[in-house]
Amino acid sequence: MKADHFDQQRLLALADEDVALTQLAHRRRTLPEAAAVDAALEAERALAAALVRAETESRDLEREVKRMEGDVDVVRQRATRDQQRMEAGGLPAREVTALQHELDSLARRQSDLEDQELELMERQEAADSALRSAQEGLQNAEADRARAEQLRDDALAELADATARHEKARADAAAGIPAPLLSLYDRIRQQTGTTGAALLKARQCQGCRIELFGKELAAVRSADPNEVVRCENCGRILVRTAESGL
Ligand SMILES: [Zn+2]
Repeated sequence: MKADHFDQQRLLALADEDVALTQLAHRRRTLPEAAAVDAALEAERALAAALVRAETESRDLEREVKRMEGDVDVVRQRATRDQQRMEAGGLPAREVTALQHELDSLARRQSDLEDQELELMERQEAADSALRSAQEGLQNAEADRARAEQLRDDALAELADATARHEKARADAAAGIPAPLLSLYDRIRQQTGTTGAALLKARQCQGCRIELFGKELAAVRSADPNEVVRCENCGRILVRTAESGL
């Protein structure tokens, strides 16, 4: 293919924009700010699960304390009734002995239950404090996640701005290039994944960093300036300038 060598040199500006756009796309795919959001979400989920566990534990204990209080009440009422019957007097001695016996056993039972209740209340206090710290932890995690999302969104917006700028510059650079040369460039760019042309600098292809020698160098040297020559290694259009070392 033939193309005016000034037009060929315009491909370098296009290639610069494509390099910039490729780097921007890579940064968008590997954004550390996005990984930070994922990590923050994971921490938040773990803390939310811990909060559910703490809430369940606290609720269970609360229920148990209530049940225990009910048990203590039953024993206390029974003892009061027995006491009143004793105080009312007029009971046969055998019944007084039996009531006295029952009152002793109720007193022991009440004391046992109160001990258990006390222990439960201590556990409940610990569970409530664990619950409060789980709530606080989750709130902090939510704030961390929101901050991480803000940072990620800022980074994405910055990347979008830069991408729009380079896309505009690329369109401007492409505008002056004849269609056949531009479509060849684009075809090669699809194959390399980055650019379709590279500067030949000091006999080295700046696309793949391979230095030309021997027959290939001789062919490039003797080629017409308006002939489109390509790197045998990477396939890019080799753009020749005064720096090419030919
Ligand atoms: Zn090359």
